[in-house]
Amino acid sequence: MPAVRNPKRTPLFRLLTIGSSGIGSFVLGLWGLKAAFGDGLAGMEAGTVVGIMAALCALAAAAASLSFFAGVDESADYVFQETHFDKLTGLLSRPAMVGKIADAACATSKTGEPVYLIDIDIDRFKHINDAIGYSHGDSLIRAFAKRLRAQMPKDVVMGRIGAGEFAVLLPDRAIRGSMEKTVETLINELMEPYQLVSHQQSVSLSVGIVAMPKDGVDPVLVLRRSNLALQNARAAGVGNWSVFHADMGLVAEHRQWVESELHAAFDRGDFDLHYQPQLDLPTGRVIGYEALIRWKHPERGMIPPTEFIPIAEETGMIVPIGEWVLRKACSDARHLPDDCFVAVNISPVQFMTKDFVGTVRETMKRTGMKPSRLELELTETAMMQDRDRAAAILRELAEMGISVAVDDFGTGYSNLSYLIDFSFGKLKIDRSFVSRIDTDTSSGAVVSTIVGLSRALGVGIIAEGVETENQATLLRAAGCEVAQGYLFGRPAPLKISAGQSAAPGSREKLVANAH
Ligand code: C2E
Ligand code: CA
Ligand code: CA
Repeated sequence: MPAVRNPKRTPLFRLLTIGSSGIGSFVLGLWGLKAAFGDGLAGMEAGTVVGIMAALCALAAAAASLSFFAGVDESADYVFQETHFDKLTGLLSRPAMVGKIADAACATSKTGEPVYLIDIDIDRFKHINDAIGYSHGDSLIRAFAKRLRAQMPKDVVMGRIGAGEFAVLLPDRAIRGSMEKTVETLINELMEPYQLVSHQQSVSLSVGIVAMPKDGVDPVLVLRRSNLALQNARAAGVGNWSVFHADMGLVAEHRQWVESELHAAFDRGDFDLHYQPQLDLPTGRVIGYEALIRWKHPERGMIPPTEFIPIAEETGMIVPIGEWVLRKACSDARHLPDDCFVAVNISPVQFMTKDFVGTVRETMKRTGMKPSRLELELTETAMMQDRDRAAAILRELAEMGISVAVDDFGTGYSNLSYLIDFSFGKLKIDRSFVSRIDTDTSSGAVVSTIVGLSRALGVGIIAEGVETENQATLLRAAGCEVAQGYLFGRPAPLKISAGQSAAPGSREKLVANAH
């Protein structure tokens, strides 16, 4: 904890106060003596005068130390106020909250009554603060704290432990009904818009909960665990809450490891591309390949893209990685049959970078890739972030002759109006529908509807994740003529043998290429 000093009490000021009270007492004593004895003082014995002087010095010293200790008390009070309470909200500060968690942990260890630490965080508060300005940001925090206080029983301990982060210590006995209901009511109430002077501000929250003594009694550990639960809730989407469990620690540790390793992995050249064939069902001919990134770590082996792509997106590493994927796929294309295209996955973050189209254009120029052989796979989420900008980018890509496929189609937005605004060439039916097509009639109906939709829009269609002959037959029956999946070939590395195309063009060779 940093030392806090009362700014109005400088060291010089303190010295003067102590000095003047000492001198003042001394002079006052002398003046008193003079008034009492008058000229009689001169006729006194030397020993008596020394005694009186010593008494006066003692009086001056007592006054100076009184003044010194009063100053110390006042400073201690000031330090307590400064460090114990959050100025903005009047709630406890983070250090004070740590102390209260320790007290609660001590009590719960004795009584066994559970106490919950509820960690509430305003999502992207820094972003909101930058956008609306610090003074409105402060008003938002004050209003939020007021509402939080109103929602909680009177004697419950609560504090502000970060810029937009609050903590509540809720004893089991203070919970009316279930924990689930209590937390959901709290979230709903706190997520109601806030009326600020200039505008109405909406916020979303994430909440993490930890139970003491079950999940620990060390305040620092308990706070770390409530934050892990909070991060877990945030990953699940807007207004979520989650309760800590032991696996979260492992997940967070692994996440941190991936984050710290990505850079080195990229520089070391750990990444590679594997290719998975896409087949024309009626003829069995391979018409294209999807490039899928692979990370082979020198010590830990293969790390799946589902584990590192989201982290690369959060840290921004996806931009150099994505550029590398595009460049490698375009240059690998010369080892693939001329009549096959290459499909490259584009992350939403990459798609929204300032000069995405410029990067694509430059890559095509450098690798000599024909636009008709490149397909970009984009999810609906990527297109929805900024619809106007996305529509403009898609138009430019279409003008360049590059096709765009909507990946994981059917899992994103339910409002399909964007299909009319956006230029794209293909819908890729998500694996979740394909995997249930033979067991669940509604999945079959969804597939038929998507095929019908693609015809109405005049765009291509492909089904992904086809694993069985039965699924392929049903897809064919539904009118879907292009498919991709383990049934036809797993993603596999390019095999470049001298003087011939690397990727096999027939189904038999593809299977041979599979691993
Ligand atoms: P995705 O784009 O939906 O890719 C298809 C995933 O399904 C791939 O997983 C593929 O190996 C797997 N798959 C293909 N056929 C089957 C099947 O028949 N059954 C099953 N169960 N799975 C099948 P993978 O390679 O692990 O990639 C996972 C996701 O990671 C991809 O999903 C994509 O979103 C992302 N990803 C992969 N490579 C890249 C890349 O280069 N850039 C970006 N931005 N994302 C990538
Ligand atoms: Ca894909
Ligand atoms: Ca997909």
